[in-house]
Amino acid sequence: MELPRIVENSPLARLARLKLAAPNVAMVLGNSIHLSGVSREQFLRDPFWIAHEMEHIRQFARHGRLGFLVRYLRDWARHGYYQIPFEIEARAAAERDAHLYAQGRPLPTAAERHRGAGQ
Ligand SMILES: [Zn+2]
Repeated sequence: MELPRIVENSPLARLARLKLAAPNVAMVLGNSIHLSGVSREQFLRDPFWIAHEMEHIRQFARHGRLGFLVRYLRDWARHGYYQIPFEIEARAAAERDAHLYAQGRPLPTAAERHRGAGQ
């Protein structure tokens, strides 16, 4: 499993966390995953969450940094956070790809999974 760079205590993720009023946030910028309110270890314990953020990494690669951000913010304003197409894709990818990041452990149960607006 090749993981991108992970930035803990990211000020940018903290801004997103405040905006979303979420206890913890993971946010992709280019090839990096920025965390706020969650440690690297906690994040890496949830393969669904990793798979979700890896889809955002692919979206960034597909659309470019600016293309991704412009679409993301436009769609957020248009549809609301939950209905942003990039988020819908990432939620589907989490279900589809979590097993790739399980590192030989059983997948977390619904109760053990991270839930947050920042996903
Ligand atoms: Zn997301």
